[in-house]
Amino acid sequence: MSKKYVYLFSEGNGSMKPLLGGKGANLAEMTNLGMPVPRGFTITTEACTKYYDDGEVIAPEIQDEIMAYVATLEKQTGKKFGDRENPLLVSVRSGARASMPGMMDTILNLGLNEDVVEVVARKSNNPRWAWDCFRRFIQMYSDVVMEVGKKYFEELIDEMKEKRGVKQDTELTAEDLKELAQQFKAEYKSKIGTDFPSDPIDQMMGAVKAVFRSWNNQRAIVYRRMNDIPGSWGTAVNVQEMVFGNLGDTSGTGVAFTRNPATGERKLFGEFLMNAQGEDVVAGIRTPQTIDQLKEVMPAAYNDFVKICATLESHYRDMQDMEFTIEDKKLFMLQTRNGKRTAAAALKIACDLVDEGVINEKEAVLMIDPKNLDALLHPQFDADALKKAEPIGTGLAASPGAASGKAVFTAEDAKEWVQKGEKVVLVRLETSPEDIEGMAAAQGILTVRGGMTSHAAVVARGMGTCCVAGCGAIKMDEENKRFELGGKTYKEGDWISLDGSTGNIYGEAIKTTDASIGGEFGRIMAWADKYRKLNVRTNADTPRDARQARKFGAEGIGLCRTEHMFFEADRIPAIREMICADTVEQREKALLKLEPMQQSDFEGIYEAMEGLPVTIRYLDPPLHEFVPTEEDDIAQLAKDLGKSVDDIKAIIASLHEFNPMMGHRGCRLAVTYPEIAVMQTKAVIKAAINVKKKHPDWALVPEIMIPLVGEIKELQYVKKIVVDTADALIKESGSDLKYKVGTMIELPRACVTADEIAKEAEFFSFGTNDLTQMTFGFSRDDAGKFLDAYYQKKILESDPFARLDQAGVGKLVKMGVELGRATRPDLKIGICGEHGGDPSSVEFCHNIGLNYVSCSPFRVPIARLAAAQAALKG
Ligand code: ADP
Ligand code: MG
Ligand code: MG
Repeated sequence: MSKKYVYLFSEGNGSMKPLLGGKGANLAEMTNLGMPVPRGFTITTEACTKYYDDGEVIAPEIQDEIMAYVATLEKQTGKKFGDRENPLLVSVRSGARASMPGMMDTILNLGLNEDVVEVVARKSNNPRWAWDCFRRFIQMYSDVVMEVGKKYFEELIDEMKEKRGVKQDTELTAEDLKELAQQFKAEYKSKIGTDFPSDPIDQMMGAVKAVFRSWNNQRAIVYRRMNDIPGSWGTAVNVQEMVFGNLGDTSGTGVAFTRNPATGERKLFGEFLMNAQGEDVVAGIRTPQTIDQLKEVMPAAYNDFVKICATLESHYRDMQDMEFTIEDKKLFMLQTRNGKRTAAAALKIACDLVDEGVINEKEAVLMIDPKNLDALLHPQFDADALKKAEPIGTGLAASPGAASGKAVFTAEDAKEWVQKGEKVVLVRLETSPEDIEGMAAAQGILTVRGGMTSHAAVVARGMGTCCVAGCGAIKMDEENKRFELGGKTYKEGDWISLDGSTGNIYGEAIKTTDASIGGEFGRIMAWADKYRKLNVRTNADTPRDARQARKFGAEGIGLCRTEHMFFEADRIPAIREMICADTVEQREKALLKLEPMQQSDFEGIYEAMEGLPVTIRYLDPPLHEFVPTEEDDIAQLAKDLGKSVDDIKAIIASLHEFNPMMGHRGCRLAVTYPEIAVMQTKAVIKAAINVKKKHPDWALVPEIMIPLVGEIKELQYVKKIVVDTADALIKESGSDLKYKVGTMIELPRACVTADEIAKEAEFFSFGTNDLTQMTFGFSRDDAGKFLDAYYQKKILESDPFARLDQAGVGKLVKMGVELGRATRPDLKIGICGEHGGDPSSVEFCHNIGLNYVSCSPFRVPIARLAAAQAALKG
């Protein structure tokens, strides 16, 4: 039997998301549950993939299948495409496996043409409505399918309004709209060169193709990259009989959540607009009414809706986000899905569902998107500073959190300013999908229009970014990049602050404080800890970071970079003196100054970690990073060292490397200057002996980590220096201190010779930043220049420095693990690159049997949750 590419809603079900997309699978599920869903069918994601495989054409057999299903739909509805008595009108809706809100475009009222519109006008006795649908359809179709800009049509509408002397679209008459439809068609012809398609089948095939194409539009690609959605999935297309929310005052359309998506409160939450169609609610064109008000306006439809909400929530065992339309008092369900929510709401809903007996702990852990936790881990407003601040206005508390930044007025500016190191708040009349990158870059988003379900609100909640929406009091002057609020004008670059939990807007910068883990957050984390197998450590270079990370649950330090300590003002002179030394003796003299400083750093870190493991990496960066570049500083250094400026300049010049990332760095420094490794060992060991004396019960075992080893003999050489120095000190002190010497695995050669390296190394830690850099041959600092082109040309889907490249780099890691453990079965192995805090990379680490991941303090809770999810999925 040949493959099936089309399914009636009644043939599918909720488990078929990969094939039918989320929207299609849920429409099928609701149909099976006997809910009022307009009839229709779904063209599968496989048809989309095939469309691309076939060179962007819909194969004839798929077209035939679609035609057969159109015939079925006609039979089911008793309506026919293009019919003079009972014409069928449909929507064509995209729907990927994972929901991608606003990413792809929907076409409504398809099936209308010059003849059909007359039929609809006559039968409905509402010609104004019929012509309004038709002109909307031409507009949407031109925009979505043929990519004729919306603005041409909007200009024509404006001209018409001016000619008639009216302000609102709603004041235009049936005759006006009919004339507009003619103008739109003419506009279409002048832009495209052919007549607007009048055959509903042509219209539908064009629309289906457009949905397939939209899978690869710029917005969709960016969204996928931000959300780890593979480009290979494709989107399904839903073709569905239209129902009309714009028939008059007994019709309307709305969106609702079964619980509050901002707070998690168990109460129906949503909005609707009377006499409206489709995205009117979400677009924020008119201010909608709350769902509670529907009870008064249309009690019967409201009651039906409440019942359906309860059924859907208990059926899916999760908070639902639903779209509905009421056509002449009758309710129709157009969509349901597990609702997006803020991190705080996610935690509350998960805990509540456990307490309500709906789900168990494991399911609760699996329900939280680790990436969303980020919002809770970042600073909140300092309570005192906030009390003193006077709000200049309020909007809707659309997405919680605290944001302080400089006002910018376009998404491009937001992106640019942030790249320059500024913090910004993006201020817009309303946002649209094109703004997505700027929204992601901003600290917070402020909009003038739109409700709790506006684009800005939905997207901000998804990203965990603070958002205050719909502050109508703002007088916006987008063109001149300024706005007026509370009697004052704010220009581009002025500081403003947003409180996403109250909706307050402030005309100043406000101090923020650190977050902590308590309440529901703590409950979920405790459940996560119960199920995870991976340990979670942190990358921390200071006692302060170490303490922060422990508050977030870190179980040790996986990477303490010693060089960061050298950059401090009181140390840099000594390290420069060492670099400029002519002899070993001079170098040792300079190192002697550094030793006590390093030792006290390590004591502070051991104290902060209270006996938990601490991995200390020896000096890693090329030395040129430490020498001065400014003339004044060079002169000062010459003076301090009693050398001439020319001498110093000659030394600096001698440090120049063509490719410092592959230059004199890592263990190569200890090979050329063993005295550096000696000094660092003394500091590590003396500090440990001291702390152990104070806390004999702590299991303090320093882990000394040698960076950038590619050849076993490098490690042998440096390790011998470490061991000789350490053992002498321990013996001398009479301490029973134990320590370990291991290595970073961050070169491809280290991965492929890991069996050899494990003979010397007592532990491995994968440095996946360098390993990614060295494997791809991409410099981490320069890859930004070409990665965008790679995304666009679909050579790469995501930044390999943020998300571990499992196919290449991951394969090397896996090989390193297997070879290393072949030599030393109990080898402890971790990862300490940026990837340690990326959920999909954490899952990979779990699957290949690492012992721990190490990440920045703020990512520790994310890694704990991701590790638990990996274990529960396995
Ligand atoms: P998105 O994925 O952007 O939410 P949808 O496919 O859900 O897009 O369509 C957007 C809106 O269009 C829906 O919320 C609904 O209001 C309207 N719509 C879609 N299909 C129909 C239909 N068959 N009848 C009436 N309205 C529809
Ligand atoms: Mg929708
Ligand atoms: Mg490295």
